Amino acid sequence: MVKKVVIIGGGAAGIDVLELLLRGKGDAEKMEITLLKKEREGFFSTCGLPFALQGRYSIKELNLFEPEFYRAQGIDFRTGTEVTSINLEEGYVHLDSGEDIRYDCLVIATGSKPFIPPIEGTNLEGVYTLSSREDGELLEAAMNAEETSNAFIIGAGWIGLQTAVAFSKKGIKTTVVGMFPYLLPSILDADMASIVKKWLDKDLAFMLGRRVDALRGEHRVKSVVVGSEEFPADIVLIAAGMRPTVDIAREAGIEMGESGGIVTDRALRVKKGKSYLANVYALGDCVEVIDAVTYRPRLSQLASTALIQARVVANKIRGISSSYSPCLSPTVATLSGLQIGSIGVITEVARRYGIAIKAGRAVKYTKARFFPERKLIIAKVLFEASTERLIGAQIIAEETVAERINELTLGIRAGITARDIWMRERCFDPSLTMVEDVIVDAALKAVGN
Ligand SMILES: Cc1cc2nc3c(=O)[nH]c(=O)nc-3n(C[C@H](O)[C@H](O)[C@H](O)COP(=O)(O)OP(=O)(O)OC[C@H]3O[C@@H](n4cnc5c(N)ncnc54)[C@H](O)[C@@H]3O)c2cc1C
Repeated sequence: MVKKVVIIGGGAAGIDVLELLLRGKGDAEKMEITLLKKEREGFFSTCGLPFALQGRYSIKELNLFEPEFYRAQGIDFRTGTEVTSINLEEGYVHLDSGEDIRYDCLVIATGSKPFIPPIEGTNLEGVYTLSSREDGELLEAAMNAEETSNAFIIGAGWIGLQTAVAFSKKGIKTTVVGMFPYLLPSILDADMASIVKKWLDKDLAFMLGRRVDALRGEHRVKSVVVGSEEFPADIVLIAAGMRPTVDIAREAGIEMGESGGIVTDRALRVKKGKSYLANVYALGDCVEVIDAVTYRPRLSQLASTALIQARVVANKIRGISSSYSPCLSPTVATLSGLQIGSIGVITEVARRYGIAIKAGRAVKYTKARFFPERKLIIAKVLFEASTERLIGAQIIAEETVAERINELTLGIRAGITARDIWMRERCFDPSLTMVEDVIVDAALKAVGN
């Protein structure tokens, strides 16, 4: 019998599920797959937007596949389509066109949307968010407008900062306002964040530990009010975090968690009442995950998380046993050539959940100290105090950060300790590494050896 699979959402999560189903050894032929999404594009890479704004390539190049690419493979790929409700009892979704589509298996991948803080003036012209192709194009046009000379960014996370870099590259005077006293507060400790701020100080102005109280202007934004001061602003980007899009799931009676995301079990099946539904899955930015260190619920909201969840969902639909593990959310970002990586818990999260830690920080080079192209690298590692098990790491350098974060991700998963870090061999070539790595020094400092 042909299985009717309906996927709501064509962002990274929905498309990953679709592609994995298509790749699955002829299984897709036993399925009738419909994908429903609001936007007009096929597969668009949101993650590439900040770099497009920085002028590295055009926004057009982020259109990875047109809808026709999927339609040619037999997929009922519907763009410009909104699901207005889900009927879990009878197994169908209702569309804005009035049509009902029946499913045997439903995948909810409705993603997230930018959080708009409750302040006056956010609906003025000249105020933007960045989470879609359309957002990117509007922002790009505003950046390129001759009259744009002052920009404000609300939010000091990586999307806000990467866009701030794009503004400043255009010669726009850019100020970042963040509620926390330091940058990137969800992935860095204050001491590590101060290194990033120093790097960016030459290009950007910062107001940290402050909040924007209002945006002023007639039709168009003219100024930003911070406390008792008012500053001129031609454009404002709101980058104050993303909230899961869960309206249709909530209205269908699906359970939400304390983070605001959809609750799922390890098979990523949604919960209604007391039970998890056998044929309804959710993944991506709209779901809650369990943190692999604290075992507390939180959001992850990364394309890399969505991909792993998609493997689980696609396997389950194909009848292959699969389960999603608690989440580590390895993160890496570049800001004006500086790479910043983070994995596991930061000190504030460990404190919040009563985890006593031993932390160590070291500064070394990425290559041998005599090698001309060496770069400074700063690493901080966090160990659970009682077991000296690795539970978090933050790394800043101009190179090699992503691969180190991936290595430490595997390390945390494997339960490595500080001793494991300094007692294992590492490869060495002066043009590529130091014989004793910065992570080893940081681990030794953390446990006092
Ligand atoms: C600027 C930016 C840069 C980023 N950079 C990175 C990065 O470098 N690395 C990384 O790992 N992550 C990055 N992310 C995060 C990453 O983009 C998201 O985690 C990922 O896109 C989430 O995919 P998703 O499919 O869950 O949600 P979304 O991309 O939000 O897609 C949701 C989909 O659901 C559809 N939808 C919602 N409701 C309905 C409905 N009722 N009916 C029909 N369709 C509906 C929407 O139309 C959309 O197609 C970045 C995010 C942004 C905004």
